[in-house]
Amino acid sequence: MRLVVLGGGESGVGTAILGKKKGYDVFVSDFGKIKNNYKEVLALNKLEWEEEQHTEELILNADVVMKSPGIPDKSPIVKLLKKKGIPVISEIEFAYRFMDYKTIGITGSNGKTTTTMLTHYLIKQGGLNMGLAGNIGKSFAWQVAENKHEGYVLELSSFQLDGIETYSPNIAVITNLSPDHLDRYEYNYELYIEAKFRITMNQTKDDYLIYDADDEEINKWLKKNKTKAKTIPFSLSGKVKEGIYVKDNTIISTINKEEFTMPINELSLEGKHNVKNAMAATAVAQLMRIRKDTIRESLSNFQGVEHRLEKVLKIQNVQYINDSKATNTNATFFALDSMTTPTVWIVGGVDKGNDYDELMSLVREKVKAIICLGVDNHKIMNAFSNVVDVMVETTNMTEAVRIAQSLAEKGDTVLLSPACASFDLFENYEERGKQFKAAVQNL
Ligand code: ADP
Repeated sequence: MRLVVLGGGESGVGTAILGKKKGYDVFVSDFGKIKNNYKEVLALNKLEWEEEQHTEELILNADVVMKSPGIPDKSPIVKLLKKKGIPVISEIEFAYRFMDYKTIGITGSNGKTTTTMLTHYLIKQGGLNMGLAGNIGKSFAWQVAENKHEGYVLELSSFQLDGIETYSPNIAVITNLSPDHLDRYEYNYELYIEAKFRITMNQTKDDYLIYDADDEEINKWLKKNKTKAKTIPFSLSGKVKEGIYVKDNTIISTINKEEFTMPINELSLEGKHNVKNAMAATAVAQLMRIRKDTIRESLSNFQGVEHRLEKVLKIQNVQYINDSKATNTNATFFALDSMTTPTVWIVGGVDKGNDYDELMSLVREKVKAIICLGVDNHKIMNAFSNVVDVMVETTNMTEAVRIAQSLAEKGDTVLLSPACASFDLFENYEERGKQFKAAVQNL
């Protein structure tokens, strides 16, 4: 069997290693450049590869093709493969075929990484040997090849779910839905929602689907369509009184028919969105039979994830917060919502078709000054010029942070929560967050 791997990055190299181990004749093809560290791994494993081209004769003879999530369906080589009827699957699908253990699959528009890492932490503290993979760290396929874990907690993007055929998580989580990555879905929100719900398409009655019962789009889908899995709602609004919900500032769960409670003020993570993430992770941990005491203790010890509402420093009683991962307005909504003091807000970057109206009342209430950090800030300037008196533009992080310091008074917060992608000025959101933190440290 010939396995062709399109893309020589983390998931591609992992798939190649697993494929080789399972006896496939493997070829890796990358249209761009393959990083040196991956080339070394390919060489070490005696794998064949090419870069900066897709040689059709070496690809179209595949029995199965693994396409890395960054490659769009409309790329010529993928179109050609589909035309020829050669199966094109994702790394998740490929690796799953060689695994007998449980997986927990977590998807949604925002909160995937936080929920996945928190879930994994709860399960690990509970003594289970499950790995962490998907969109995080070492690829799933690579870890399956190494075979060190008995099960996995997987963060799953819509692109990874697009390429599944048989993959089915024992426990699925959908954190929430809001428009994102629509350029890959013909600018059709419905198609993006369908992609997210592929997470449950192969589930059976023995599986679980945990979802945000306050999310209109999720409710709409579940009403119209069917999942065979048992559904467990979580709710912040108190709209549902089953599954896991909040009452009197306490998380209450009825899962496993035993009452579990956790006061919100004992959670280590702040913000309403993190209460939702904590509910989703708790639901999974309970289904995995982790002890209630362990769950409670772990929920109050979890250290959070870098670049997500990360407290950097307090300088002259001004708190600096790095939320660089907020690359859409929904994420920034929850960041602003969790601000408890007047806020100097650093925002901007590459607009993804943002609708700033949804932030308007929060900005009016909480933001004292806006610093636009982007190449083109006109949309943000237009949206908020009647709401915020002080608006400054810059294309430099150090300058943005210095201006923020000059505008902030004792007791204020400086928040980097861009609501935009980063690639106008930075390589990625991590680089943006790192530059912010460095600039703050230098103040
Ligand atoms: P993802 O992996 O889905 O991008 P992250 O956990 O990395 O999600 O968080 C991305 C951004 O969204 C961060 O700015 C974070 O503060 C915010 N966020 C986290 N959880 C949620 C949630 N449940 N709803 C909305 N925004 C969230």
